[in-house]
Amino acid sequence: MKFLAIALLLSAAASAQISAIQGELIRPHVKFLSSDLLEGRGVGQPGGALATAYIESQFAAAGLKPGAQGGSFLQRVPLKLISMEGSPVLTATNGAQTVEMKWLDDFVGHSQAQQTRIAADAELVFVGHGITAPEFGWDDYAGIDVKGKAVVLFTNEPPSTDPKFFGANALTYYGRWTYKYEEATRRGAAAVLIIHTDATATYGYQVVKANGRPQPQVARANGAHALAFAGWITQSAGDKLLALSGENVAGLLKRADTKGFKPIALGSRLKFDLSNKVDDVETYNVVGRVDGSDPNLSTEAVVFTAHWDHLGVGDPINGDSIYNGALDNATGVGMLIEMARAWASMEPKPRRSAIFAAVTAEESGLLGSAYFAQNPPIPISKLAANLNFDSYAPLGRANSTVMTGADRTSFYGVVQAAAARHQLTIEKESNPGAGGYFRSDHFPFAKAGVPAFSVNMGSRPSPLPEALVKVQKRMTGIYHQPTDEYHEDWDFSGMEQFARFGVALGLDIANLPTIPARIRP
Ligand SMILES: [Zn+2]
Repeated sequence: MKFLAIALLLSAAASAQISAIQGELIRPHVKFLSSDLLEGRGVGQPGGALATAYIESQFAAAGLKPGAQGGSFLQRVPLKLISMEGSPVLTATNGAQTVEMKWLDDFVGHSQAQQTRIAADAELVFVGHGITAPEFGWDDYAGIDVKGKAVVLFTNEPPSTDPKFFGANALTYYGRWTYKYEEATRRGAAAVLIIHTDATATYGYQVVKANGRPQPQVARANGAHALAFAGWITQSAGDKLLALSGENVAGLLKRADTKGFKPIALGSRLKFDLSNKVDDVETYNVVGRVDGSDPNLSTEAVVFTAHWDHLGVGDPINGDSIYNGALDNATGVGMLIEMARAWASMEPKPRRSAIFAAVTAEESGLLGSAYFAQNPPIPISKLAANLNFDSYAPLGRANSTVMTGADRTSFYGVVQAAAARHQLTIEKESNPGAGGYFRSDHFPFAKAGVPAFSVNMGSRPSPLPEALVKVQKRMTGIYHQPTDEYHEDWDFSGMEQFARFGVALGLDIANLPTIPARIRP
């Protein structure tokens, strides 16, 4: 009886505050954050600093308390910017035979050692897909010590039609290139060369080549092992490199895909001597907090995230060098601020606490969210869930949602019920094989064991009203372009809908009697 009364009280207070979330209150945040004044919110650039100052003041005005360590709204994320200098060359040798690989044309990548000069002369070993997955009975490193060696591998995972073996068509984390680097690092390898093929990557070398740009990395703890070089080589460079050992790409890919694969010492060596520029970057996650009302549960928190960074100032396209990032992700941040305001004004407060975190360096590989998940302001075991918000179309209300990762959590039933209450059908991810689950800020939380997912807009009723057809046409091809800009004719009713839905969902989780169980992704 008492529980029911509290639940009713909580839900009445909540629904009034949820309906106070207005699209027209989200608009000014998006307009300001994506204005040319903020120069595309680049990490380490003045526009990025303006963005964090704005979000901090908005969090304070919304009634949040400082949520970062040390009683601050700002969590410093220590980043280093690594830039390759000159036109480096990788050399592979076998006896008198030599293959030279040229920067960008044949290979691309970076050192993870965060030192100005990196040299190696290491034995080359082919390790298939570079996967150690005991739960699938698969070990590409079986019986070999790769300490100090250079490993050559393919991205992706062995092909499968069995959902219990590498998830069939849905990529597991083992398939991602980030995992390959992590596993090789754990094993003390000196370098990793991923042989790029369009088929294993699911995209072309042009996409990979963009990794030649200066790369922000989280500063490494002193003494932690790091790869002297982590990069990709083209398929044709791969064929030349493997020819030194009498092998080729097609043949080794076939062996890598075969059960019982064993690593192959190639009998050749990789040599390089590279110069890096290493610069410190100052950037922050903006973190606010609302304490819960239940004395037992308020030590736990639901975490809402949206990344504030975008690409900053870059190569001009049609004379415009500011990558404004209006959709990606001023929209999510505008929603985050208004969700925070609604949560902070509820009386009584939800049982668990809430943390609102506008995270940095998503565009550099989820670095801000990863740093937060590894250095949370409260113990990681107390984070009940993470709901992430990234990129919302200004095209009015949707009738469905895509909840990337929600079905991998222990409270999918809660999510389904909330969606039904909001008249939203849950759409399946359109291309799970492309691994979208691993490319958003919820993933570092999931990797740390926190139930986490992204709340995305699905499709909307068709046909669109004529005014919105114009908006939609203008949005074609804006992804990561200077044309991702704010326009006055944007319709914020869909963002209002999803901010309300996000708070309602967070509330359901914040008021659960027990913390959701952890399931490793
Ligand atoms: Zn982006």
